[in-house]
Amino acid sequence: MTEMTPKSAGRLERFMHGLKRTRDGLLGKVSSLLPGGAATGTDWGEALENALIEADLGPETAARIVDEVRGTSGTRAPSWGQVRSAARGEILRLLAAPGAGAPSVPAAAAAPAGQPRVILIVGVNGGGKTTTAGKLARRLVAAGARVMLCPADTFRAGASEQLKIWATRAGAEFSGERPGADPSAVAFDAAAAAEARGIDALIVDTAGRLHTQDPLMRELEKVRRTLGRRIAGAPHEVLLVLDATTGQNGLPQARRFLDAAGVGGLVLTKIDGTARGGIAVRIVQELGLPLRYLGVGEGPDDLIDFDPEAFVDGLLPAAA
Ligand code: GDP
Repeated sequence: MTEMTPKSAGRLERFMHGLKRTRDGLLGKVSSLLPGGAATGTDWGEALENALIEADLGPETAARIVDEVRGTSGTRAPSWGQVRSAARGEILRLLAAPGAGAPSVPAAAAAPAGQPRVILIVGVNGGGKTTTAGKLARRLVAAGARVMLCPADTFRAGASEQLKIWATRAGAEFSGERPGADPSAVAFDAAAAAEARGIDALIVDTAGRLHTQDPLMRELEKVRRTLGRRIAGAPHEVLLVLDATTGQNGLPQARRFLDAAGVGGLVLTKIDGTARGGIAVRIVQELGLPLRYLGVGEGPDDLIDFDPEAFVDGLLPAAA
């Protein structure tokens, strides 16, 4: 085990906090199956499998973990150490799949020297796009970057106002606020302003209304093309924001964004609000994209770099 520095201890704490509901749910069910627990003697394999499925790890993963535990404990009720070791191994294996790694801020393509790096935030309304844009701005500002936020959602009343509040909170600049304007024009103007003002990172928030999905996808494509016309290679990173509390149901929609918006990385928000945090593992598996950040609360500092080791430690503590 690597030495625990204050920084890594702090990071683990954030994962422990974000995954509390999932961990408590899992432990509540698993501890009764362990030797001496209330449910000892029942079919522990089936009960363990159900507990893992309820944490949203997926039926196949749950079955593989139970098989592995059976391999070490036979028909006797397993120890927590045996459950933890099998689950840990399996989850880390899945998270290490191609693309599942987590380069920290910023990664993806580099911006040309002296030009702003452009990050486009996409996803359905209510998933946490604006909050993520604000939290990301705050992190980049704290790291010494000059950041600008742009609301390319000109359709939803209040979207631009909400982002403006985040800009003030994060110490970032703001360019936008043109209700009803063409989102591409707003993004283009922000790119020009960012270039002129020597901004390091321009974060563009977008619309996510679902009832008009086809026009939305066309609009996102246009925003991308327009940004690229103003700044070479832009957007340098497209992040798809997904809401952990919608679980599997969000995946078909997510796939539509992948095609239209050229998504390169994922952000999973509200992991603190669900007992089904295993969804993170399924999302990485099913979309085959790196999970870059986890949203662990509504506060400005509640966005953390995804780290597979810290994730499993937050889910499966050393002692049950
Ligand atoms: P948007 O429509 O995609 O821009 O979503 P918003 O950023 O407006 O977020 C919708 C709601 O989710 C707001 O109430 C946020 O405070 C909340 N939210 C966003 N991220 C998180 C998170 O990581 N944890 C929790 N608990 N709430 C979040």
